[in-house]
Amino acid sequence: MMTRKTFTYIYSGSIILSIFILNTLLWYFRLSQSFLNNNALITSIFGSTILIGFVMVFFLSTRNPILVKLFGGLETVYFWHRFLAMSLIGMIFIHQTWANAQGLIVLPRYLIFPISFSELGELARNGLILLVTLALFAKWMKYEHFKYIHRFMIVPYLFGLYHGFAYSWVDLFSLDYLSIWMIATSLVGIGSSLYMLLFYKHVALSNLGVITEKNYLNGQIIDLKVEVMKVYRFKPGQFAFIRIQGRKIKKQIHPFSISGSDGTHVYFTIKTLGDYTKQLYDLLDVPSVITISRPFGHMTFSDQKHPQVWIAGGVGITPFIGKIRSLEPIETPTHLFYSVRNQNEAVHMDLFEAYQATHKEFTFTLVDQQKDGYLRATHLPLEQNPHIYMCGPKRMVDDLQKQISIINKDTLITYEAFSFTGTLVDTILQKIRTLFKKYLPAKK
Ligand SMILES: Cc1cc2nc3c(=O)[nH]c(=O)nc-3n(C[C@H](O)[C@H](O)[C@H](O)COP(=O)(O)OP(=O)(O)OC[C@H]3O[C@@H](n4cnc5c(N)ncnc54)[C@H](O)[C@@H]3O)c2cc1C
Repeated sequence: MMTRKTFTYIYSGSIILSIFILNTLLWYFRLSQSFLNNNALITSIFGSTILIGFVMVFFLSTRNPILVKLFGGLETVYFWHRFLAMSLIGMIFIHQTWANAQGLIVLPRYLIFPISFSELGELARNGLILLVTLALFAKWMKYEHFKYIHRFMIVPYLFGLYHGFAYSWVDLFSLDYLSIWMIATSLVGIGSSLYMLLFYKHVALSNLGVITEKNYLNGQIIDLKVEVMKVYRFKPGQFAFIRIQGRKIKKQIHPFSISGSDGTHVYFTIKTLGDYTKQLYDLLDVPSVITISRPFGHMTFSDQKHPQVWIAGGVGITPFIGKIRSLEPIETPTHLFYSVRNQNEAVHMDLFEAYQATHKEFTFTLVDQQKDGYLRATHLPLEQNPHIYMCGPKRMVDDLQKQISIINKDTLITYEAFSFTGTLVDTILQKIRTLFKKYLPAKK
């Protein structure tokens, strides 16, 4: 049986593919009308596919609500954002190998820059390769630096666009169907990039609130109580992007799970990880104004047909606190495994104990790794055919998913990863490490 996740990737992938097919057909019919040779056809189709691909990469980055819904969640959107960007680099090399400008006449309107169009194409190529390669190493960069570098993507894209429009066998400003397609898609590409660069922080974080309480839960985690100016509608388990207007706090946008609500307040539970979260812990004054985006995320505990098993690793407990601290009751038998490195790391234990005492459907186990070791799939009641909801460090989520699928590959698993950055390089390095361990003789 196909999992929901596989279906989501196939469905969203087919949307992307159909846009590429539409582009190819539009170019094929238009160039056939002009009786152009196969070389012109192939060069134009490859070149335009790259441009359309980057339009989608930019549009995917806007977190547009319709798109997020269509693609089945932000994680899938970011997966295609990354996958497309990397594949298009490969396409650029194929395009460059095939491209041949024989018989192409550049229209005078493009002859304004003192640079040849193939050089402009190379500039675009080198710029995209540099920025996409840097993005692959996001894990080893400060996130803000990664985001800052990412903003320059529009520059090589504009070079590529100019190269593509100037180096076209047909006039792309003739306002025929192909020209309208290319102009419209290019405007979507430029518009999406400018929206994220200039307007996102003003437009997308439209829910206003005031942080009225900041509670220290332990040496690393704070709980923020936010009074919202108007009712904030979300499903427990979801997250939002927030921006705090505190005097000593950087005006950055970061995602945090909504860890509770009582109708007039919402909560965020934040662990210090890097400089921004450390600032919140050390320097955030109350009251402070906060702006909140609309809610995102599909881990909303909606399955009422199966018993639920919740697995939280460290600060990954926040979406589950969000459910417990929401106005929505738990209706199906639910068991929480809360895995922490040691007792001190555990937060809101009083909340879980009180909820367990008053809600017969809910039970929980604290897994203290120092005392009990890591949580393993063999500890889980998989014989009850539960729906597993998981949130925590990527390593824990990946390992448990593997272990569970060995025991029962049909187990339903929904998880929320606390990171949008890709893990391709990390995964490749891990594979190399495993290979080395396997084949290199162990030191005596
Ligand atoms: C869907 C989601 C829900 C999350 N929920 C919570 C939560 O409830 N409580 C909590 O403590 N943490 C949560 N996080 C993690 C939190 O966003 C990061 O810890 C925080 O942004 C770190 O910022 P920093 O500057 O302190 O650290 P940095 O050192 O800058 O970043 C550390 C890591 O955090 C991630 N990160 C940093 N900034 C951003 C950003 N603007 N957008 C996306 N990822 C970023 C990156 O993976 C980065 O590698 C969540 C993350 C995601 C993606």
